[in-house]
Amino acid sequence: MTPERTPPARTPPARIALRGPALSLKADPFALPAGDCLDHIEDALIVIEDGVIAAIGPYADLAPGLSPEIDLIDHRTGLIVPGFIDAHVHYPQLQMIGAYGTQLLEWLDAYTFPAEMSFADAAHAERVAGLFLRELLRAGTTTAMVYCTVHPHSVDAFFAESERFNTRMIAGKVLMDRNAPAPLLDTAQRGFEESAALIARWHRRGRQLYCVTPRFAPTSTEAQLDAAGALLHEANGLFLQTHLCENPGEVEWVRELFPARASYLDVYAAAGLVGPRSMFGHAVHVHEGDFCTCHQAGAGLAHCPTSNLFLGSGLFRLFEAVDPRRPVRVGLGTDVGGGTSLSQLQSLNEAYKVAALTGHKLNAVQGLYLATLGGARALHLDDRLGRLAPGYEADIVVLDPKATPLLGFRTDYCNSIEELVFVLMTLGDDRAVRATYVAGAPVYDRDRTGERFRYPTHA
Ligand SMILES: [Zn+2]
Repeated sequence: MTPERTPPARTPPARIALRGPALSLKADPFALPAGDCLDHIEDALIVIEDGVIAAIGPYADLAPGLSPEIDLIDHRTGLIVPGFIDAHVHYPQLQMIGAYGTQLLEWLDAYTFPAEMSFADAAHAERVAGLFLRELLRAGTTTAMVYCTVHPHSVDAFFAESERFNTRMIAGKVLMDRNAPAPLLDTAQRGFEESAALIARWHRRGRQLYCVTPRFAPTSTEAQLDAAGALLHEANGLFLQTHLCENPGEVEWVRELFPARASYLDVYAAAGLVGPRSMFGHAVHVHEGDFCTCHQAGAGLAHCPTSNLFLGSGLFRLFEAVDPRRPVRVGLGTDVGGGTSLSQLQSLNEAYKVAALTGHKLNAVQGLYLATLGGARALHLDDRLGRLAPGYEADIVVLDPKATPLLGFRTDYCNSIEELVFVLMTLGDDRAVRATYVAGAPVYDRDRTGERFRYPTHA
């Protein structure tokens, strides 16, 4: 990817160092044995300069060279991992998370569209964007691919708050020109113009990245999908997000709306929307041919287990998707508000169960990969996100294995780092996030008295 057009609005502290157990992935545990993929340092020192990891290694090796002026933070009671990546989430749906009783298409009409209509009020959008960013950081998520609403100011509100935290976020204005309430509709032309203006305003400004965002095939005409394809040529490094094969009723509807297309994915392919940096949410009801298309195109799929279970959508075939013979890039999505938690630990708790119901075992190393380096690969950002390694952006989470009385008791009986991570996946949630660092700045501290969230400031 090309460098940012402009530097971040705020710079993090120039030099900081974290000490504690550190764990991240260096390779794909769906392709290689788990043991070959882990970077685990029991007492690590991570030196951060200008928002980037400058050095990482055993504390005993690196400490003698450490400058006395450096701000050294002791996390020896925690577990230091890369910040989590959420490959699919809707910030305007925070107000209807946990809505009762429906499947996808009725759920959109009953809950989602009314919630998104309230974003006509720019002040409401700003309030929810502020809350959403804080809830992400509280859950240890430092990068997310985010749907806003059809209103351009919903995107401005989101990126403005992300810029204040200096988080690397990917987001865009939803495009819908049919099959939704009139106040939420744009047109192919207006959607194009509003998106182009947002791309000019936000894409690669600091750490912000723009994502062209047709909601899904049923709410866009072919003209609008073609316009979305044209938008991808407005700037380098743009992203594309939409939904794919989430629910059987939706798949059938797409077949009726686009009878000339060979498959649901083919509707997007015909508009030029299937390529690197394209992320398709759910993909529960796809076929082998769709997996092959995604593999060849370098497109990603977002596995959203809490949502797929909550809305009764079905079971994503993760192990089929990542088959090493034609691996598809898969990220992990919360899909709030269809999903029931912004915590990727909770996503992994449910991903394990979805895998079990499809005849597979998702181990802890594979789980951590999906939430970190795997997500970065799905987004084609694995040159800078998802690892604890020199040159990587210092988006870092400190997990607390003793976060609750039960975790404290259970983790006393863990015999390996893999078991510890698995127990955190199963029992953990935002309570298990002790601190979150964004580009090296301590933006969230669970145990800080007073305000737990802080925008980065000059050192
Ligand atoms: Zn979604």
